[in-house]
Amino acid sequence: MERRYYNRQLETMSREDFRAYQWRLLKEQIEYIYARSGLCQRQFKAAKITPDDIKDWADFRNKVPYTTKLDLLADQEMKPPYGTRLAVPEEEVFQMWLTSGTSGKGQEVHAVTREDFELFLNGTCTMYTWVGWKKGDRVMLPLPLGVTAAAPVHLGGMQRLGLTVFNLGMYDTRTKLEYMKRFRLTGFFATVAYLETLTSEAEQMDIVPLRDMAVRRIMTGIQPYPVPFIDRMRQKWGAEVYDYYGTTQYATACTCENGPVLGDQRGYYHMLEFVAVHEVINPDTGQPAKPGEIGEMVVTPLNKKASPYLRFRLADKVRYFPYDACDCGRPFDCLETGTIARYDDMMKVKGINIWPEVIDEVVFTKEECIEYRGRLYISDDGREKAEVALEFKPGVVPDVKQRLMKLVADEIRDRTGIGFDVRETAEPIPHVVFKVRRWADERQKGLGRT
Ligand SMILES: [Zn+2]
Repeated sequence: MERRYYNRQLETMSREDFRAYQWRLLKEQIEYIYARSGLCQRQFKAAKITPDDIKDWADFRNKVPYTTKLDLLADQEMKPPYGTRLAVPEEEVFQMWLTSGTSGKGQEVHAVTREDFELFLNGTCTMYTWVGWKKGDRVMLPLPLGVTAAAPVHLGGMQRLGLTVFNLGMYDTRTKLEYMKRFRLTGFFATVAYLETLTSEAEQMDIVPLRDMAVRRIMTGIQPYPVPFIDRMRQKWGAEVYDYYGTTQYATACTCENGPVLGDQRGYYHMLEFVAVHEVINPDTGQPAKPGEIGEMVVTPLNKKASPYLRFRLADKVRYFPYDACDCGRPFDCLETGTIARYDDMMKVKGINIWPEVIDEVVFTKEECIEYRGRLYISDDGREKAEVALEFKPGVVPDVKQRLMKLVADEIRDRTGIGFDVRETAEPIPHVVFKVRRWADERQKGLGRT
């Protein structure tokens, strides 16, 4: 198979040479952070280490403390808005990314210098090159620009590669499809659920993508899927489908030319290890995952100047494979495609991170509401839906129920930016004493209805 390299030298190194190169970057980064970040200085002091104690990979794994979301939030409290981790003068901050969703846990602030941004785009452009996009491609970006990292990073990468970009984030699905047809777009990025929505909406508009569209390469990502979903999308669109995983904290992985499924089996993402050191650890023991084992993603950005940190625990649950599980020869370790999940109960709804605590707070501050159940699903017309069903106290009159359902929907929208359908439960919810699981995620079942 023809290989598409963005940085041939890096992508064709031996694993050994690549690890040596990565180690040099990491070592410099550790010294840079230690000299400038209050957060890192406190962490190293507590662990009784200095950069001199980190002489090899084993030292890094065994001595350097983890950083968690709570550490970043506490650090921001200590010195708003960027925290004591800000390692550049404030005027060097070129963009500010917040982790998505006004979660119950708060939003991390990630400051980015112009240089940080440019270096990060090396990763984005590598992924797009693997997808096969190049100058001359007409590509849709469906994400509205906001304070999260996704849209600027995708847009920046598309622009750097010289693609013809259609910024359609502000339009509804129907309008997006009309543009795609009218301008013969050749590619687009869409989350797994949104790819389903586009496919289904096209059918309702009597558009047959294979016949009426010019799409040749699709990049999907962010959500898990069953294996046949990819094949179905390939057939519907007559296009190659690629898949990626990315986080604001710089954990990034993408399928190479081999794509997300190999026959009827799941394939591999390569972690972009030149953007960040990616570790997959057993969350209980801290030991590195063995090939085929599931573990937690831990990430250390390299070359991140503004808001750097070491060994950030993402709570993303991934299945690890070594670099040579994939036959493309790239020296970057792998993850299994389409199965990335969470260790905690964070939900990704329409690409936005939401913790159930936010919804709990909205519902349980209404004294007339006694319980609720949430459901995420794909509707019959292919839309990603989020629903909250409220149980009211006995005796609450219909008018009040109506008002409360609207109020709950409005408050959830204010807090998360996402529209939830709010209704009343058909019957009383069974009373559970121990650890309530209020949410059902039925989205995988709904993929590929079309
Ligand atoms: Zn590969």
